[in-house]
Amino acid sequence: MGAQLLASQLLGPLNQPESQTVVAPQLYSRVLPHPSNDYPTYLLPTRQLNHLPLTSTFPPPTNTTTTHPAPNTTHITMASEPKQKVAVMTSGGDSPGMNGVVRAVVRMAIHMGCDAYCVYEGYEGLVQGGSYIKKTEWDDVRGYLGIGGTYIGTARCMAFYERAGRLTGAKNMILNGINALIICGGDGSLTGADKFRAEWPSLVEELVATKQLTQEQVEPYKKLNIVGLVGSIDNDLSGTDATIGAYTALANICEAVDKIESTATSHSRAFVIEVMGRHCGWLALMAGVAIGADHIFIPEKPRKDNWKEEICEVVKKHRDWGKRKTIVIIAEGAMDRHGGKITPEMVKDLLADKKGLALDTRISSLGHLQRGGPAGAYDRMLATLQGVEAVKAVLDAAKAVKEGKPQPETCVIGINENKITRQPLMAAVAATQQVAKAIEAQDFDKAMSLRDTEFAEMYNSFKMTTAMGLDTSIHVPANKKMRIGFINVGAPAGGMNAAVRAGVAYCRSRGHEPVGIYNGFAGFARHHGDKPEGAVRGFDWLEVDGWASRGGSEIGTNRELPEESGMELMAKLIKQYRFDALFLIGGFEAFHSVAQLRKARDTYPELCIPMTLLPATISNNVPGTEYSLGSDTCLNELVSYCDKIKQSASATRRRVFVIETQGGRSGYVATLGGLGVGASAVYIPEEGVTLDMLAADVRHLKDAFQKDKGRSRAGRLILVNEKASRVYDARLIANVFREESNNRFESRDLIPGHLQQGGIPSAMDRCKAVRLAIMCIKELEKFGPKPFENPDKIKNDPTSSSVIGIQGAHVTFTPMEELENQRTDWKNRRPNTAYWTDMKEVVDILGGRPKYPEPEKSLFGQIAKDTKRGLA
Ligand code: ADP
Repeated sequence: MGAQLLASQLLGPLNQPESQTVVAPQLYSRVLPHPSNDYPTYLLPTRQLNHLPLTSTFPPPTNTTTTHPAPNTTHITMASEPKQKVAVMTSGGDSPGMNGVVRAVVRMAIHMGCDAYCVYEGYEGLVQGGSYIKKTEWDDVRGYLGIGGTYIGTARCMAFYERAGRLTGAKNMILNGINALIICGGDGSLTGADKFRAEWPSLVEELVATKQLTQEQVEPYKKLNIVGLVGSIDNDLSGTDATIGAYTALANICEAVDKIESTATSHSRAFVIEVMGRHCGWLALMAGVAIGADHIFIPEKPRKDNWKEEICEVVKKHRDWGKRKTIVIIAEGAMDRHGGKITPEMVKDLLADKKGLALDTRISSLGHLQRGGPAGAYDRMLATLQGVEAVKAVLDAAKAVKEGKPQPETCVIGINENKITRQPLMAAVAATQQVAKAIEAQDFDKAMSLRDTEFAEMYNSFKMTTAMGLDTSIHVPANKKMRIGFINVGAPAGGMNAAVRAGVAYCRSRGHEPVGIYNGFAGFARHHGDKPEGAVRGFDWLEVDGWASRGGSEIGTNRELPEESGMELMAKLIKQYRFDALFLIGGFEAFHSVAQLRKARDTYPELCIPMTLLPATISNNVPGTEYSLGSDTCLNELVSYCDKIKQSASATRRRVFVIETQGGRSGYVATLGGLGVGASAVYIPEEGVTLDMLAADVRHLKDAFQKDKGRSRAGRLILVNEKASRVYDARLIANVFREESNNRFESRDLIPGHLQQGGIPSAMDRCKAVRLAIMCIKELEKFGPKPFENPDKIKNDPTSSSVIGIQGAHVTFTPMEELENQRTDWKNRRPNTAYWTDMKEVVDILGGRPKYPEPEKSLFGQIAKDTKRGLA
């Protein structure tokens, strides 16, 4: 039985008279109140709404049933039980990814058997009602994922600050029969939502008492069912690691600064770059980490009275090393310990002071550029998964009420490392407000502690990498100093260099000796020796410092495994170079290498040194982690490639692109890429491809193009992993589709290939590289120097060879032995469970893919069963 049936059976009845239900709305721009008419000017929409998508070309629905193109379960409406009406709204400052939220909420709501509504222009629309609240169909949100900002508009609404405005909002919700409201906005919007929720019972009472509505009318709406999603570029909401839009804004900043850097280096200039963040320094901090800035100013860490000396000391030291550029990132809310504002001009004057550093200094304020453009891959994923979760949350709440159970606490959807969470809205809003209050009260330690743990860790990481060597108090004693070998193994992946840089910086801060092993195990085996160009070399910091944003692998990488290079030789070299520990960065080959080295310890006691692996591969197929460096860079490349391809169909229409993705035998890239571009289908090795599947998908596409009648200007995308099938590759699938389409559509195959490895690594890969690399060196530090003097101790300690990974809500080190023996599908070179199976289901649901015959040999079904976190 379908999830839709379940939803319509379980959810509360709506005694909404048909006459009050808004159906088949008019063309939106026509029914807008004229600016000079009904509303005081402050209530007016900030812009015309004739930008609204598709509705102007899409005919109004002829009945209330959905135009959803046959979702993968049969849609059943219970005559006696009107559908739930779930509305979505975007509010406050716009952020990239808001459109993805709208798409996900609308389609998931329809999939679950509800009617979906959009409230245009944020709370403004709720207060104004009428045509601002509009039923939305499946096709209305097509193409939303690739569009920046918010298509359904957002506005600052003064009226909603007042009870009278919220009263009108409540009335409009009830009149439109809206059972549940999903709001995507920043802390202001969620504060408003929290107030609305707290006041709701009294608002409903007042509506009856003042005879605006009858008791009968309000009866089904006694409890407000509301859920928040955080759409904000500032990443300023407590209780979630990332807000929708923050990583795209960070990427925008990094892209701009990467460009500024080249001119800074050419002229040996200093740049003071102002970024957004009045109360929250997340953007400035993460940009500082990703870029390898010389200094940052953030509101949570105001400067001591000697901040001027402090910055001059750091910058002078960097210049003494020979650095030709100086980059200072300053958040809008930067201040000193006494609450005095620190402005970019003040910093510029300081750096340019003729009596001091006398640097040619410029200011660059990035302004609204930071918010702009389409969402990056991560924000599309976040927006989609959180939108789906929000619908689940409102339906769970409705179900609880229907069953006479207490309504769950109103929640905001967050993410903790890699796990989508539900947090109590009230607590999250209160904690966020506390940060602002703590900053105002100059209680900065408290402000810092109220941010998530990643924030504090990132701040310390930044300090370690920039003020390296200035603070000798963090040096380890001489007898604890270690010589740590750094090696890259496998194909290059975005963030490898940033990880090496951070690891080197951390080692130097602590007084350890980082040593590069160039060109993987192959380089180690063939070019060892004491020549200056040999494979084993110390790092020149001036060179390494420039690696923060560089793609590829500067120390060189190679796929060769230690056994291929010769294990005996490896053991001899490790001893010869007196390595106390090995820090490996790479993909499945690196994982395999650690396994080989660990097992060989029985034969070669020289290998009894601690080793840890930081996974870095675009395929994200390393056991022990849900995230590998480089996978975000790859997805961004893939998503922007697909956006362009999709758009190229706008002239020709009716075109299906079958795109082959990398990923080895893991369907991660194809699936997450599919999530980011709204693919019509994704073919992955875990599931395989069969003729039956292809036939079902051809039927669906023919059907969809026929219904569409050329209205949609963009093409449709199918993503095929390179190893999804031994026979049906992208070309064959495209040919089959073309042949079977009966001229209803055209199809093309495309192979982006190595483009997916990306150029400049993404901001996320760079930031995570820094954090995780430092954690890895800290882990190795625990074992201390000369571990080989006590080989049995190392051999018997399972933690002495490990993989760092993000697993659900945690970052953990997992012993290699456990991963090798229990969690690796060696034949297919991937973990034996895949945490992203739910996401494949989301791609199918939101892409409108009908149910297809499950392949007989699908591993996916089993994996899905094993790892399911429960989608519906
Ligand atoms: P953001 O959501 O990006 O932080 P704002 O702070 O401007 O943006 O909030 C957006 C809208 O949310 C406001 O225009 C207002 O309508 C509503 N809002 C914000 N704070 C409150 C509040 N304390 N009470 C009621 N409504 C609020």
